[in-house]
Amino acid sequence: MSDKPQELVVISGKGGTGKTSIVASFAALADQVVLADCDVDAADLHLVLEPKIVRRESFSGGKRARIKSGHCIACGKCEEICRFDAIYFDGPGNGKVDKTFRIDPIACEGCGVCAWFCAEHAIEFEPAVNGEWYVSDTRHGPMVHAKLGIAEENSGKLVSTVRKEAGAIAQQRGLNLVLIDGSPGIGCPVIASITGADLVLIVTEPTLSGLHDLGRVADVARHFEIPGMVCVNKWDLNPEVAAEIERQAQDRHLTVAGRVRYDRAVTEAQIRKQSVVEYQSDGCAEDIRNAWACVERNLSAGANRNG
Ligand code: SF4
Ligand code: SF4
Repeated sequence: MSDKPQELVVISGKGGTGKTSIVASFAALADQVVLADCDVDAADLHLVLEPKIVRRESFSGGKRARIKSGHCIACGKCEEICRFDAIYFDGPGNGKVDKTFRIDPIACEGCGVCAWFCAEHAIEFEPAVNGEWYVSDTRHGPMVHAKLGIAEENSGKLVSTVRKEAGAIAQQRGLNLVLIDGSPGIGCPVIASITGADLVLIVTEPTLSGLHDLGRVADVARHFEIPGMVCVNKWDLNPEVAAEIERQAQDRHLTVAGRVRYDRAVTEAQIRKQSVVEYQSDGCAEDIRNAWACVERNLSAGANRNG
């Protein structure tokens, strides 16, 4: 068997499918796991796992321009060329002009054009701090998670940072699995969540949008040649659509990991800051246990193939 820890990524076509509840339960069921919350735009795994932060790091995902008002001669060149309308003529005066130009840090996309064209070298172009990432202890093992600053983007790079750190911790501590709560959707953050992973579990709901989303996420996983599984959450809310999702999953060569029934215990467990498998042993907790057993079998089969 390979020494490299395996990576299981749990994803969904959109937020609100119950993906994170399932990840929290898997964390409770798995042995020897490192958790990675890569849903950095809406991280909420910490609400159930109550991590105790042991390391905190700043995240810089890009650069940002800033005008040094003392050097600006108010020529207006930067405002003229900024395609993002991020530059305003309302900066403080200096000994040369009554008003200078100012850059709105939220509107600035960090392209650097203004700094390049300012003949006075009055524009600094420096790394911007866009958020933070953390290593924490939880009752189910170490966890790497992150928070993006307000209105910040570039979460794909932050997702990659979280994954990389989680993998490094698993390797250092001899833990054989990184369990990743992936970003929803099919954009850059989800691609950063799944690229190079060993297995993807797609959590979906039995709705027409769930059916549609399954196709989109499955296409992304197939594009990156990652074996995929599907779990229909709250399947009993619409058994016909649940069956259709499973049929389409099989057509796409995705393994059906199981069905999880609708259960109010999920909310009750969340209120108590527990995963549902810690809160109860029957109901949907039993379904999640069965799904986990299926996922584990697929991980073992993958490890044996690659070992
Ligand atoms: S280009 Fe430079 S000198 Fe001209 S307004 Fe902008 S910051 Fe000021
Ligand atoms: S770095 Fe680009 S986006 Fe930001 S103010 Fe300068 S020209 Fe505008």
